[in-house]
Amino acid sequence: MSDFLIVKNGEAIKCMACDSVSHHPMDIKYKYCGKCKRFIDSDRLGWTDLEPEYIHGMGRNRFTQYMQQEVKDNAAKHLDKFSKEMLKIHQEHAERSAEIDRNFRNRMIACGVLILVVVLLTVFEALLRMGVIG
Ligand SMILES: [Zn+2]
Repeated sequence: MSDFLIVKNGEAIKCMACDSVSHHPMDIKYKYCGKCKRFIDSDRLGWTDLEPEYIHGMGRNRFTQYMQQEVKDNAAKHLDKFSKEMLKIHQEHAERSAEIDRNFRNRMIACGVLILVVVLLTVFEALLRMGVIG
């Protein structure tokens, strides 16, 4: 159920919380209840949706109050989003790190095998020259 009711063919807005009715066009447009001093349907309204003349019309106190509520609501959302992004970056970094470690280890093993083959061939050649084998 909606928190407000547009009445009298859109010429007024009724707040379902306090039953007050406003005919102010800006109250209707932005679903503001002057008695509750809050935006009745605040989920729909980002603060950037506010027009400068409305901010002026609201008066400093109403705007400050509105901004404080917006900051509270958005801070939690932004913090949550930020945490998720940081976790994602951390995971990607960890994966990349593990991949680099794996590549490094594989190259070291290949290098060791190559050295071993060279040593064995050298020894084999020396033995052949000395007539021990062959
Ligand atoms: Zn109200």
